[in-house]
Amino acid sequence: MKPTERTSTTTLSTSTLSTSTLSEASTLTSASYEDLVREMLVRLGEDPDREGLVRTPHRVRKAMQFLTRGYQEDPEVLLKGALFTVTYDEMVIVKDVEMFSLCEHHLLPFFGKVHVAYIPNGRVIGLSKIPRLIELFSRRLQIQERLTTQIAETIQKVIEPQGVGVVIEARHLCMMMRGVEKQHSAAVTSSMLGCFRNEEETRSEFLSLIRQRPNGV
Ligand SMILES: [Zn+2]
Repeated sequence: MKPTERTSTTTLSTSTLSTSTLSEASTLTSASYEDLVREMLVRLGEDPDREGLVRTPHRVRKAMQFLTRGYQEDPEVLLKGALFTVTYDEMVIVKDVEMFSLCEHHLLPFFGKVHVAYIPNGRVIGLSKIPRLIELFSRRLQIQERLTTQIAETIQKVIEPQGVGVVIEARHLCMMMRGVEKQHSAAVTSSMLGCFRNEEETRSEFLSLIRQRPNGV
């Protein structure tokens, strides 16, 4: 038996789940994901047996599996499969990559655009791998700050370039739909490593390149 395996056999039902048992996670291990979603619907005051909700627990499980599938992939394996030796040493920039993630505090979406740049030091990565790396880390429960640094640090570690810059502009539904309700505010995070951190000129070039809009929008 794995040390983390739980042995509880308590089954879940609406009537046995009191608030106090919520803190005892082990009592829920035999419940299916669908059971847990159904229980959540009951606690929200809904009737999980009404027509529109009958298959909701199933759909929520499928959706959450999809939205967190980034846990199944190894970022270094992804990048190491597409490294190429080059003499090019100008800035490589991939900008306006769409990103959808879930905030780990509320399990609500945050979404926006990611801009990535690096200056090679003898090696580059296949360009299509950068959106895939962004996808891999954003399909996990995240905070925007960590998503930003994970993308930058993985590129720095695997490609060993002269430097990396990552900027994310995102809107958070947990801010827009509740609490402060700032509909139009976007959070901007950045991570600058190597020459992007040390050289003002490199950093400004990156920032001005991501501000340029192809159609003037
Ligand atoms: Zn949140």
